Amino acid sequence: MTLTLPRALRVAIIGSGPSAFYAAEHLQKAAAWDIQIDMFERLPTPYGLVRGGVAPDHPKIKTVAKVYEKIALKPGFRFFGNVEFGSGITHADLSARYHAVIYAVGAQTDRRLGIPGEDLPGSHAATEFVGWYNAHPDYRHLTFDLTQTAAAVIGNGNVAMDVARILASSRAELAATDIADHALDALAVSRVTDIYILGRRGIAQAAFTNPELKELGVLTDADVIVQPGADVLDPLSADLLARTADRDAIKNVTTLASYAAQSPQGKPKRLHLHFLVSPVRLIGTDRVEAIELAQNELIAAEDGSLRPRTTDRAITIPIGLVFRSIGYHGVALSGVPFDARGGVIPNIEGRVIGADGIPHPGEYVVGWIKRGPSGIIGTNKPDSQATVERLLADADAGMLPMPTSVDDAADLLARGGCDVVTFADWQALDALELARGAAVGRPRVKYASIDVMMAAIADARLHAPRTDS
Ligand code: NAP
Repeated sequence: MTLTLPRALRVAIIGSGPSAFYAAEHLQKAAAWDIQIDMFERLPTPYGLVRGGVAPDHPKIKTVAKVYEKIALKPGFRFFGNVEFGSGITHADLSARYHAVIYAVGAQTDRRLGIPGEDLPGSHAATEFVGWYNAHPDYRHLTFDLTQTAAAVIGNGNVAMDVARILASSRAELAATDIADHALDALAVSRVTDIYILGRRGIAQAAFTNPELKELGVLTDADVIVQPGADVLDPLSADLLARTADRDAIKNVTTLASYAAQSPQGKPKRLHLHFLVSPVRLIGTDRVEAIELAQNELIAAEDGSLRPRTTDRAITIPIGLVFRSIGYHGVALSGVPFDARGGVIPNIEGRVIGADGIPHPGEYVVGWIKRGPSGIIGTNKPDSQATVERLLADADAGMLPMPTSVDDAADLLARGGCDVVTFADWQALDALELARGAAVGRPRVKYASIDVMMAAIADARLHAPRTDS
């Protein structure tokens, strides 16, 4: 019997969210290859949207980080936190040192509405509010004028639901979570009492999932108010729903009907659900004062879906805050092809392609920057697996470029003066955040400032001499 030794591969992964970790997991399962995986992350903290996107009152979803931790602790895996792609480490640095690079950077900005008044003070991307309440360092300095009494959340996705729910939650509900301290303090004195969730289509076409709609109904401080008639389906929606297998749509219709049947209990806040309305303009001189909406009707599109069409009926709602929650959009990486319209890295089945449609050898993509901002965390598992299968097939076929440098990325970064956060550093920071939370009866108190994180890490290194370098 002849023994075949696993062949060596070096793979860099850019980003450390779910798609990055699922890519690493599938690489670790490739028995025919001995793979060194180096994961580079701009922030000192890993886990992408699990830390910076998932709502603080969804702790169960966040427990997936334990799975990622196990992946990170396997032999052959290194975490390089506090290293920005493009400045800390470049495309050329990686091409010289790795057989393959997997881009897993997600979709870092918001889609625009393209309507007048969109940039008035008081109009915010939901992504900013989400980053702010989740203690993301990039957003911690933002301010939201919570002295306003009415807010509009534009969009009918799960992010819109998260934003509306956080605005409507009581201080006690928020204090039981790992919401950023600055957000807890600001929201505790918020005067926002009326939150309008505005969908351009009907309840049967809403993108939010049913548990998120149901969560609105159990908030201690908020009544759910359904716009009169919104629970009565138009004939096209009723017909489509009768033939659909979309369980969320069916459940959402039922849940909305139950909300419509309830009388408000006189709670201090109200979540108003409006459907079939499209924002036309934000009105105001120095800041947002109102939103003008066009009433929509649904028409059948060629693909069988129902699309919104504006009518000449308009309504105006006085509001002082707007959260545009109509989806995320990817950002270009230096030296990497980019489809600006789609906000993704162009690819065929995860293989990055250039403008000529030809694959760039050794370059791959996973997650939202591959397919656009859709799906739940688990969606990334098969998505990343599919890309890694292509990578391994290319490796088997001898199609991966050979690294030209034996210089280790760790040495390169050390020479450049980069204070790399290792996974052990992150674990120390994690323990500190958990301890800060335990001290005040909360699950975690997050650090929001990179400087403070790095100081805490430096201190932890002094007190627990490192064994990993
Ligand atoms: P999304 O699910 O794509 O929803 C975007 C919403 O914006 C849709 O209702 C869409 O309406 C609407 N929209 C788009 N363009 C619009 C326009 N010009 N005017 C008015 N409305 C417009 O996006 P998301 O909420 O940002 O969520 C992103 C992904 O993360 C989703 O897959 C979501 O499920 C996931 N996520 C999951 C959770 C969770 O599991 N709890 C939490 C947060 C996010 P149309 O449908 O008419 O296009």
